[in-house]
Amino acid sequence: MLVLLCSGSSRPSHSLMLFLPCEEVEKMLEAAAILPVNFKSCALWGKLMDGMYWLRKALQILGPRNCGQFELTSAEEVLVLYQKICVPFPMIVDRLQNSIHKHNLWLEQVRLFFRLGPEDRSWIILLQLKDLGTAEAFSCVELEKVYSEVEKVQQWKRHCEDIIKPSTGNGNMLISTLLEIKKTLDRSFGMYKKSKNSKEGTLCLSCCSDINDQELWTCSICKDCFHLQCTKLLLEDANDMALFICSYCNFVKNAKLPLKGSGLLRIGRKHPELDRLTALLSDADVLCLWIEERRILHQIVEKALACNSCLTELVDFALAHLDKDLSAVTEKMRIAYKAIELAGIYDGQGYRKFELALARNTWKIRTQKLLESAEKPTIQQILRLLKEGLAISIPPEDYYRQQLTALRDIGLQWADTAKKVSMDGGALRLDKVFELITEGENLPVDCVKELKLLRDRSMLYCICRRPYDQRAVIACDKCNEWYHLDCMTISSTPKIYICPACILEPEEDMGGLAPIAQERFTGSKFEEPQTPLRRTELQKKSQKRKSVSKTMRLAVDQGPGDVVRNHSGCERLFWSNRKPFRRAARKRSEFQSLSPFLYVQNN
Ligand SMILES: [Zn+2]
Ligand SMILES: [Zn+2]
Ligand SMILES: [Zn+2]
Ligand SMILES: [Zn+2]
Repeated sequence: MLVLLCSGSSRPSHSLMLFLPCEEVEKMLEAAAILPVNFKSCALWGKLMDGMYWLRKALQILGPRNCGQFELTSAEEVLVLYQKICVPFPMIVDRLQNSIHKHNLWLEQVRLFFRLGPEDRSWIILLQLKDLGTAEAFSCVELEKVYSEVEKVQQWKRHCEDIIKPSTGNGNMLISTLLEIKKTLDRSFGMYKKSKNSKEGTLCLSCCSDINDQELWTCSICKDCFHLQCTKLLLEDANDMALFICSYCNFVKNAKLPLKGSGLLRIGRKHPELDRLTALLSDADVLCLWIEERRILHQIVEKALACNSCLTELVDFALAHLDKDLSAVTEKMRIAYKAIELAGIYDGQGYRKFELALARNTWKIRTQKLLESAEKPTIQQILRLLKEGLAISIPPEDYYRQQLTALRDIGLQWADTAKKVSMDGGALRLDKVFELITEGENLPVDCVKELKLLRDRSMLYCICRRPYDQRAVIACDKCNEWYHLDCMTISSTPKIYICPACILEPEEDMGGLAPIAQERFTGSKFEEPQTPLRRTELQKKSQKRKSVSKTMRLAVDQGPGDVVRNHSGCERLFWSNRKPFRRAARKRSEFQSLSPFLYVQNN
């Protein structure tokens, strides 16, 4: 073996050198160490060993993929050392020189690559340089740079995949997903820019295809086309193509209420956020080149920003709109809504502003419907709408807010007066009460509750001719008129009560009694008195039932002739004078169903 190594010029040694692994040299060196001492003293031995050591070093450098562990200078040093040894290794020297040459060639390529602008650098070439460098280049800053640039790109791509979440499959799914997003933004932008007369309306707006075997339905409002299965709405109502209304128009037209909490629409939430894409794009600034993904992402962000400025224009228009006519804003809201749904990204900031504009427009449409409805709005409806309007900051100068506020003021002012009058215990003259009722009926606001209070207030009872108040009352068993216990100076409720006015009419004596009273007079069996009472009175009465029935029992025992008649002669005269009132009161049960104005006529 040693002989073979030394005879460097002969052919076999050449071929041996090519395949001699470094480990073999190590073994030979180990074997040489245990040779007898006299062997080592000869001069040839010394030269041989120098050669072996040199060879070991050279082979270490030349070992497969070992270049990267050594610097170029190590190879050059080994070549310099070769001048000092006496054993020839021409093949090894060739290979060393070749390695240095290849390294320099690679270095030249790398320098050429980085001399190009970032736009012109190719990702494929960078990857090739990395592979070539791993195989052939010595350790150097350029190799480090190539490694780090490749790593940066790969890291960015992984980050990109985290955000874009490409569907799994064969091929480069990240690029195809990005291209898909870009396509949706092109369509979204087209929606913003679509002119009324464009002929794009021959594609399904939802899926953007015109598959021939499926019929396209045209929305009767916006004239856009849809496949029935693409528009999830109105399938059951879609029997008549002429009446078909797409989900967008349906949403805007019906002024659907905003969802509480997380905004009005959930559209686009599943898509990547524009903010994150913008951040991702600026992250790519550290990359030394433009890979395809970065290029597409750049286009996506540019298109998304263009869409955003279109949306902002529509939204600003809508937010600044304060007039009565809502058609222009509604049309713009519809366009924006469609464009947003087409877009494959989520532009949080833009969409939140749009949601506000949409909520305001929805509020206005609902207010418009209420104001234009055949029925008058109630004060409660107005107050509720105003509260909702306040929550979405409808400006005070807005037409609909002003209308509602005016109605509210009119309604509340009248209702306030009505409430006061209804509790004035009869202070206001009856004709003034009727005037107030007429005013209330002619208001543009429906104040049902207050009108009822006033109508009740316009009914007068008793000799004091006062409206119903909370004082205890009793009904005359003959004429059914109500009387205050204190006005009639009755301390306890009698079983039968005949008012002084009825007692004054001789022809109507006992025979003219109301049927119930008559039965009570003549009947032997005692029954709980059936005096018609107001609801509040009924309650009061049932509580006092025991004591009252005791009083009544007394009245029965005394017989019909002892019916309570506690009035003086003076009162008699008074009652004669009050007769016309009593006549009116007598038919109260009929009047109640009629307008209180009849009262006035009778009086
Ligand atoms: Zn479709
Ligand atoms: Zn439509
Ligand atoms: Zn009274
Ligand atoms: Zn009476």
